[in-house]
Amino acid sequence: MSAEGETRLELARLSKSLFDRGFSVGSAGNISVAVPDGLLITPTNSCLGFLDPDRITKLDADGNHVSGDAPSKEIFLHRAFYETRPGTGAVVHLHSTFATALSCLTDVDAEDCIPPLTPYVVMRVGRVKLVPYVRPGDAKAGDLIRDLRGAHAAVLLANHGPVVSGKDLRSTVFAAEELEETAKLIVLLRNSPTRLLNSEQVDELNRIFAAY
Ligand SMILES: [Zn+2]
Repeated sequence: MSAEGETRLELARLSKSLFDRGFSVGSAGNISVAVPDGLLITPTNSCLGFLDPDRITKLDADGNHVSGDAPSKEIFLHRAFYETRPGTGAVVHLHSTFATALSCLTDVDAEDCIPPLTPYVVMRVGRVKLVPYVRPGDAKAGDLIRDLRGAHAAVLLANHGPVVSGKDLRSTVFAAEELEETAKLIVLLRNSPTRLLNSEQVDELNRIFAAY
């Protein structure tokens, strides 16, 4: 099988895994992965649990549709990460419950909306920015990500859900899972006195486990 064929299979396999464990429902969520001559992305209105690897959308390096079904309407989010963060190999966007819950709260720190509760969220996700709401499919979403100039590997779209980028498909899916599980902890611990990692502990993690 060709390298792209393997990538298509892995995209379908990891998408199904997310769907099977409730990280995505219905046709929510979209995932893209870089290939040498462009980008593969889940099609519009597709369900992550039932992707046909042969129908996954392929775009060329300029974003033109090459093959497969029409691309996710949230393609703008994906392209903005590839354009502003060199080395991006994959982007995962979910409407996972707890991260989306956080994205709706009015009292989160928009500059750092996932506090450092555990080392793993620091190592795998980094500092997460809350991006203002725009209608799904509005190209303005891409502009808002571009405005960050690559400073964040992950964002929460207000009243919508998380977008996570990473160096390859597998590690990006894992980072999206880590973000969701941390969001769950944050919601569980709301109103409880909570010890966060301090700045020295966060600096140590960033030094030793150089984030993507
Ligand atoms: Zn969405």
